[in-house]
Amino acid sequence: MDTIFAEATPPGRGGVSVVRISGPESHVAAESLVGSLPEARKSYLRAIRDGDDLIDRALILRFDEGSSFTGEDVVEIHLHGAPVVVDRLCKALVSRGLRRAEAGEFTRRAFLNGSINLAEAEGLSDLLSAETEAQRKLAMRAAEGELGVVADHLRAKLIRAGALVEVSIDFADEEVPEQIPPEVFDLITDVRGEIEKLLTSYPATERLRQGYVVAIIGPPNIGKSSLFNRIAQRELALVTNIAGTTRDILELHMDLRGLPVTFLDTAGLRESSDPVEAMGIERALERAESADLRVILTEGGVSSDFDPARDVVVRSKADLNSGAGFGLSSHSGEGVSELLNFLYSRLRNMAEKSGLVGHRRQAEALRRALVALCVDRDTQPEFIAEALRQASQGLAELVGKVGVEDYLDEIFSSFCIGK
Ligand code: GDP
Repeated sequence: MDTIFAEATPPGRGGVSVVRISGPESHVAAESLVGSLPEARKSYLRAIRDGDDLIDRALILRFDEGSSFTGEDVVEIHLHGAPVVVDRLCKALVSRGLRRAEAGEFTRRAFLNGSINLAEAEGLSDLLSAETEAQRKLAMRAAEGELGVVADHLRAKLIRAGALVEVSIDFADEEVPEQIPPEVFDLITDVRGEIEKLLTSYPATERLRQGYVVAIIGPPNIGKSSLFNRIAQRELALVTNIAGTTRDILELHMDLRGLPVTFLDTAGLRESSDPVEAMGIERALERAESADLRVILTEGGVSSDFDPARDVVVRSKADLNSGAGFGLSSHSGEGVSELLNFLYSRLRNMAEKSGLVGHRRQAEALRRALVALCVDRDTQPEFIAEALRQASQGLAELVGKVGVEDYLDEIFSSFCIGK
């Protein structure tokens, strides 16, 4: 394994910049710059010199193999936060044969060395990209390894069931068909139930992790862009009274009281002979179709075509239009905060259904385990034993113990350099 380094803090000016070095040569390389290294896990102020050149005076932290984030020998250098200082140190490290780390390489090493499992790595990645409080909480549970604990607990049940099946196969009389103890089926039913519960919460968890989408839809000139701007509290969309001017989708990312929401201002939904506008309309329809919630703006407050689970029908321009149902005016602001309250409560209900499994890779591993466990009392014992092995394998994949090579590049490249 070669020794790698990277700036762990974002590039640019700041109070402090941290450069992290990991690998077998990290201690030797750091010693050649700072003299003797401090005791492990204690920080000391040291002069960093490359030959005669005093690079900086910085805090140095040493971690030893087996008790560092990556599982390797690590040194962290807390420099003054100026790009030239960081660059000078990096140059000194390159001249000592060290290599710049790739995106996510420290975390990848942490995984390969067994310091964290794959579900924890996914949790860390989610934590680093979390934008709202609800996403942070979700990611922290994952990063803290809750899924691994559940997987181990389920695997222990499958291992017990497997042992019971093996015993009954080994001791079976040639003449008498093998008797599988009923406990085996209890254990299987139990594990199946727990996997089903995890899978049931998967879509809600995934949605929260990625952020919700609320599409504002309705005919041209109904007031979609005006509402979008009201919500944004700034002029984001082009507001105009010429039908069909919003040809693309505008997005507004918002932290709605801790929930991540993207509002979409869709193109005016109408038949059009203009090919550019028609494309905009098609895209609007597609995205609105897959949105978590849709705000349908109407003139009279009624819509013949709506899905009560997902749509909220609103009477637009309530200062002008009277009619049925809930009305709002983007001009006076009437009804806008009520709409946001309503959307928030709908999304909060969705968020409350979230659980531990938020990645497709994890859900697929669980589904494989669940499919394997489709056995009953009529199944041949040898098949039951094999089913239990396969289900165990699925749970091992869930936390990345086996069969995850294909996913590693994708997962770790989503991290930034230095993590
Ligand atoms: P869109 O095509 O659906 O995006 O509609 P716009 O937001 O561009 O609005 C079309 C026209 O309706 C503009 O002239 C707006 O000023 C006007 N409008 C939008 N919302 C309201 C409202 O709440 N009250 C009134 N009186 N006019 C509005």
